[in-house]
Parts: sequence; structure tokens; C-alpha cells
Amino acid sequence: MNTLAIEPGFAKSGLRHAVLCKVLTIWLLYEGHHPVLVGLIGKGIQRSKSPAMHEAEARAQGFECVYELIDLDERGVGINALPDLLVEVEQRGFAGVNVTYPCKQAVIPLLHAMSEEARAIGAVNTVHFANGRRTGYNTDAWGFAESFRRELGDAPLARLAQVGAGGAGAATGYAMLGLGAETLKIFDVDFDRASSLVRSLTQHFPDRSILAVEEIADAVSDAQGIVHATPTGMASHRGSAVPANLLRADLWVADIVYFPLETELLRLARVRGCRTLDGGGMATFQAAKAFEIFTGRTADGERMRRHFMKIAQT
Ligand code: NAD
Repeated sequence: MNTLAIEPGFAKSGLRHAVLCKVLTIWLLYEGHHPVLVGLIGKGIQRSKSPAMHEAEARAQGFECVYELIDLDERGVGINALPDLLVEVEQRGFAGVNVTYPCKQAVIPLLHAMSEEARAIGAVNTVHFANGRRTGYNTDAWGFAESFRRELGDAPLARLAQVGAGGAGAATGYAMLGLGAETLKIFDVDFDRASSLVRSLTQHFPDRSILAVEEIADAVSDAQGIVHATPTGMASHRGSAVPANLLRADLWVADIVYFPLETELLRLARVRGCRTLDGGGMATFQAAKAFEIFTGRTADGERMRRHFMKIAQT
């Protein structure tokens, strides 16, 4: 059987990975194989774990997938290059692409259709190409819900606090209301963003109590759980968006930041005795759902999760 092992250190560099992808694609086509071609379009994405996750899952299922990073920074282009990039990948025969910052909203006018979820969230992270049509999906919400179901499935969720009302917050809010949250209080340092998310979520869940609050304490005081959806806690944004004194042992705390997996918020929450959920599950399961959309094959979520845990801190 023809296989080409990718040595981890080599695959780490984005440029080398892109070159490797092209060489691998040509080689596989020459050999009569047709790998599934997919990719990620975004800015500053060189540390993305998506190539490793998708390619390893395909290999485990016995076929080749080549996942290419199409980095706006590496190409020296801005968001206005997105229409041409989509045409390029379609012409090269890609099954689809993931899109991330700053393309998740910008891609919407370039699509022929959108899933109901993506429409409700107002952001697309997965585009599938078929029969000359582009269909947009949002797999972040499903990814977060799946991670929550698996690890905190028995946790109470009648009254929730959410910190952060950006793109990821729209997905987690939609996910938690989908799981059955009755009251969701949303805090964001930008109150207008919190209010706007409340308006859009209320349209889809009119029977729930969804409120924007001006103080984080008002969101947390009577909550049973907290969803954190801001960049605070990332290696580049140290700290915790939730003050330690608001954390009580009876709360569960879910963070969506996954680099690092152990954020300051989760560390503080564990010290207080809270149940916690890190952002690795969301990162894994949004990829698993995208894999299914691209390939039409069921992803093994547990296998992808184990693989993600191996590569998470690289
Ligand atoms: P974004 O910029 O669209 O939104 C972030 C929001 O957080 C903004 O509205 C901002 O005003 C608010 N904010 C920032 N600091 C705050 C604070 N201290 N208190 C309250 N609000 C604050 O970003 P995004 O796309 O929503 O991404 C947020 C984070 O989610 C990023 O770290 C990203 O890496 C992570 N993310 C993780 C996954 C995953 O699969 N685990 C998926 C998507 C995004």
C-alpha cells in the first residue's frame, strides 16, 4: 500500500506543510489515488490542529485526506482575497474548506445556501462544495454541545451565565439553549455585542429568558454554570475574564479557549472545587462534524479526541 509518513516536526511549519500537501496531492494523483482535498482559510493559522486531526482520521479510515492551510498572512493578502481563494480551491477539486477569523461572516455572501444553524448563529466555519454549489455550516455549536454532553452531560443547565458575545459566543449560546437552558445571562465588555446576541438568540428561542447584563456578577450570582467565550486565558491574552471571588464550588465552568487547555479560569475554578470543561472537546468535535460534511463518512469522535489530546500542546 502506498503511504507517506509525515514526520511531526516537519509538518509543524505551515509553509512546509503547504508544500508537502501539494507534493502529496500530485503524487497521489500520479499513483491513481484521489485524496479528499480540504483546507482552512484564515489569518495567522499556522498552529491550527485541523490538518493533523482531519488527515489522521482519514488515514485511520483507510483513505487519504490532504488538509491545506491557506493563510492570508502567508499569502500576503487580506479578506478581500476570499472570493478568489474560494474559486481557486473549487477549481483544484477541494471537497470543502473550513474558514476562520476573519472570514466567518465575510464568506456568507459568497455562498449558495446555509444550514439553519449557521443562519441562526450568523457565522460559517465550514463550506462544502458540491455540484457547483457552496453550502455553509457552523459546526462550532454542535462541537461545543457534543463536548458538553460527553463530559458534563448530567450538569444542571436551567440558569446559565455566558461571558463573551462574539462569534464563538453566538455558537455556545445557541448550543446551550439547544441543550435546554432556560435562562441565559450574557456579559460582554462590549454591552452592544451582548445585546445584539440576545436579540438574535431570542428570535430562535422565544420561550427562553435571554438577557444582556452590565456587570459580570449579575450574570453569575444565581447561575448553575458559566460558559466562557472570550479570548482571555489564551497564551496571548493572559488572565481570567471571571474574577476568582465569583467562582463557587456548586458552579460548573466551561471554557472554549484551548491553547492552553488549562486556562487561568479553569485553574481557579478547580481550586474552588467546580466541575470544569476545557475547550479541547469543542475543537475536536467541530472538526469531527466538518470531517463528516466534507467526506460523507462518520468520524470516530473518541479517536479524534485522543489524537487531539496527543497533539494539543505542540
Ligand atoms: P470575538 O473577537 O468574535 O469575540 C470575543 C468577545 O469577547 C468580544 O465580544 C469581546 O468584546 C469579548 N471580550 C473580550 N474580553 C472580555 C472580557 N474580559 N470580559 C467580557 N467580554 C470580553 O472572538 P471569538 O471568535 O468569539 O473567539 C473567542 C475565543 O474562542 C478565542 O479564544 C478562540 O480561540 C476561541 N474559540 C475556540 C473554539 C474551540 O473550538 N474551542 C472555537 C472558536 C473559538
